[in-house]
Order: sequence, then structure tokens, then C-alpha cells
Amino acid sequence: FVILMSLIAGGVFSFSVSQFINNNRSLQNKLKIAIRRDDIKVNFQPFVEISTGKVVGYEALARWKQNNGDFVSPEVFIKLAESTNQIKNLTRSVVARTLREMAPVLRENESLFVSINVTTSDVIDPEFKILLEEEVDKGGIGREQVVLEITERSTADHEILKNALVRLREYGYRIALDDFGTGYSNLDYLSKLSFDFIKVDKIFTDSIGTQSVSFSMLKMMLEMLDQTRAAVIVEGIEEQHQADFLLNSCSTIIGQGWLYGKPMESTKIVIQH
Ligand code: C2E
Ligand code: MG
Ligand code: MG
Ligand code: MG
Repeated sequence: FVILMSLIAGGVFSFSVSQFINNNRSLQNKLKIAIRRDDIKVNFQPFVEISTGKVVGYEALARWKQNNGDFVSPEVFIKLAESTNQIKNLTRSVVARTLREMAPVLRENESLFVSINVTTSDVIDPEFKILLEEEVDKGGIGREQVVLEITERSTADHEILKNALVRLREYGYRIALDDFGTGYSNLDYLSKLSFDFIKVDKIFTDSIGTQSVSFSMLKMMLEMLDQTRAAVIVEGIEEQHQADFLLNSCSTIIGQGWLYGKPMESTKIVIQH
């Protein structure tokens, strides 16, 4: 009976695993083709100075619409790209498209920046800097107009990453620590590696006005971040009362969220003067 059960279980198990791999394989292949055909598009979401409503920059967010019209979430295809050695090509295509589409906007207003999400493997790849240099040159924009976002989760005790980030920063690119408060929040790292921007994760924005621990933590974090040289960006602002709280709680804050604008195609961007 035990053997029979394990045979059945084994059968079911291997069936579902292979089905999963098959599904994954077909998605993997589709992703590979999409990257090759330059089908991965990029949308841009504004960063806004909360006190004035002024747009200070845009975050580039990758978009993949499949042939059947369905969108695959970047949370899914970025992970898939990372686990199947396609992230390098994906990042190349996002960087090239972002700077190609945004160069006119960035040239028009030299104080604007565009922020690109990158992974550890991108940053530590020596070819990555070469790519950035090429695209920045082609676009005729300043290096400081390019911000690289690295998630806090990927920064834990990673000496090579740290060195690569320091070099990119010395070169003139700016660095943002993304999803702050959800990873290791290594304060030593925070103080040694001077980030230009710290992006407080949406989970803390969601807690504004509640009695939760996250809300107490948000208040502490904002006080602490005021002591660093980094500019604070708060993610996921959807409602006015959240913006009001932030406005009253610390000096200069940049906000991002649906309250200020959803990610949009570069052709929809209107430059403010
Ligand atoms: P992220 O970098 O933290 O980007 C913010 C995410 O929050 C985006 O989701 C954005 O559309 C969403 N968002 C912004 N404001 C609001 C709001 O007010 N409410 C809500 N509910 N959501 C808001 P998206 O575009 O689905 O991207 C998800 C994640 O995928 C990103 O999180 C980033 O980690 C990753 N990602 C996206 N594009 C790229 C890329 O080109 N390269 C890499 N490596 N990662 C990327
Ligand atoms: Mg980001
Ligand atoms: Mg983020
Ligand atoms: Mg986030």
C-alpha cells in the first residue's frame, strides 16, 4: 500500500512538476523571442516633489504584452529572465529603449532624471558600464540624469556589488536604494554606501494613519533618513491624506504613486516648465 501510494504520489508529483516546467519553458521561450524582437516596452512613471507638485524625474518600468494581448507582470518576467540567463539582454534592451525614448525629454530639461531598475548581475557586469556610456553619449544627456535602482534585498553583504555601485557613482551615475524597509535594512551599508535616493517601500505608505507597527516604523525611518544625504522617495502614494502626512513629517520628500501619475508611454509625457 505504501509503495502504491508513493507510486501514485510520485506519478502525480512528476506530472505536475513537468507540467510546470513545460509551462515555464514555453514562457521562457516567449520571453527570449520577445527580447530578441524588441517587444519589451517601457512605461514611465513620474516622481513628484510633494510640496510643489513639480515632476523631478521618471521611473522606467518594463512592460511585456504577449501576442494574445495579455500583459505578464514584470515581477514574473524579471524573475524568469534572471533565472534563465536572459536578464543581461533584457536590461540592455530596457536601457537602450529608455534612453532612446527619454533623451529628448532629458535634453529639454537638464534637471530631470530617469531611473532604471537593475539587478546585481547587471551592475557587476563590466559591459554594463560600457552600455550606459554608449547610450548616454548617443542621447546627448548627462550621466547624472541616469539613476540606477537596486533593491535593498540584493544588497546584503555583497562586497562586489558595493564596489561596482561605488565606481558607477564616482563616474557620475546616481544610485537609488529601492524598496527600502523590506530587505535587510543594513544600516552599515546605508551609511558606507552613499545612495543618492532612498525609496521607501509602498507597504509603509499603506500604513499611514493606521495604528500599525509599520506606521511607527515609517515615522522612525523618515527621521533617520533625514540624517543621510540621500533624497527620500516614498513609493505607492495613492491618496491625498498620505501626501499630507508626508508633507508635515519631514523636510523635502519626493513622492511616486497613482496620486501623481501612473506609468505611461513616453509619447504621453508633457514637459512642465
Ligand atoms: P518597483 O521598482 O518597486 O516599481 C514600483 C512598482 O509599483 C511598479 O510596478 C509600479 O507600477 C507600481 N506602483 C507605482 N505607484 C503605485 C501606486 O500608487 N499603487 C500601486 N498599487 N502600485 C504602484 P510594476 O511596473 O508592476 O513593477 C514591479 C516591479 O518589477 C518593480 O518594482 C521592479 O522591481 C520590477 N521591474 C519593473 N521593470 C523592471 C526592469 O526594467 N528591470 C528590472 N530589473 N526590474 C524591473
Ligand atoms: Mg524601482
Ligand atoms: Mg520600488
Ligand atoms: Mg516596490
